[in-house]
Amino acid sequence: MSGRHNFIIAIDGFSSCGKSTLAKALAKKLKFAFIDSGAMYRAVTLYFIRHEIALDDQEAIENALKDIHIDFIPNAIKTEIHLNDEDISEEIRQMYISDKVSDVSAIKAVRLAMVAQQQKLGSRRNIIMDGRDIGTTVFPDADLKIFMTADPKVRAARRYLELTEKGEDVTLEEVVENLSTRDRIDSTRAESPLRQAEDAIVLDNSNLTPEQQLHFVEEEYLKAKAAKAQS
Ligand code: C5P
Repeated sequence: MSGRHNFIIAIDGFSSCGKSTLAKALAKKLKFAFIDSGAMYRAVTLYFIRHEIALDDQEAIENALKDIHIDFIPNAIKTEIHLNDEDISEEIRQMYISDKVSDVSAIKAVRLAMVAQQQKLGSRRNIIMDGRDIGTTVFPDADLKIFMTADPKVRAARRYLELTEKGEDVTLEEVVENLSTRDRIDSTRAESPLRQAEDAIVLDNSNLTPEQQLHFVEEEYLKAKAAKAQS
């Protein structure tokens, strides 16, 4: 535990495990801020695609990163993600972004810029952040770390349903392929790869309802809060 006064919850795990859904529900319940770190990498990816930034052009990448401003803007219904003052919340969920985002987020300069912003966002308030490296790299001293996992078939089916409900024209095979490729790139990259922090609590939600997952993390939160109060 740390000497910080704010409480930080890190939720990491594989693609489409339901991290954001759980993090959002928990943030609402605990009245914590919620930051979806994956959305930040998706925003950078959108910018790179629009500006045709080649992923091996170091100078162009460095310059682009200086131009990228990402904000989380809460409204009455949800938190919008803005890229240079444009609401890109819907755009970044599309498959053409999912297909490129892991290559973009494996770039060292991109990671350094995003990790610095994420650390700033969590510096003074109670926060729940979900991603791949939150408990290992962004907040290694987080007060509670959850590592989420689920059967790949269950994950693909959930994601497929989510995309087709939004009207995206994708096949289940494409979704399976995208998830397994992203998991592979995310777990094997040199710079802060996806891995379980040693002190993370594993949550396999293959057969759990959202309510059961929320109950599980709330219990863990209460234990971690009591431990922090004593430290
Ligand atoms: O969470 P989401 O699936 O939206 O994240 C999209 C991608 O962003 C991941 O597949 C991963 O490549 C990257 N990411 C990351 N580190 C994080 C969060 C996301 O590299 N902390």
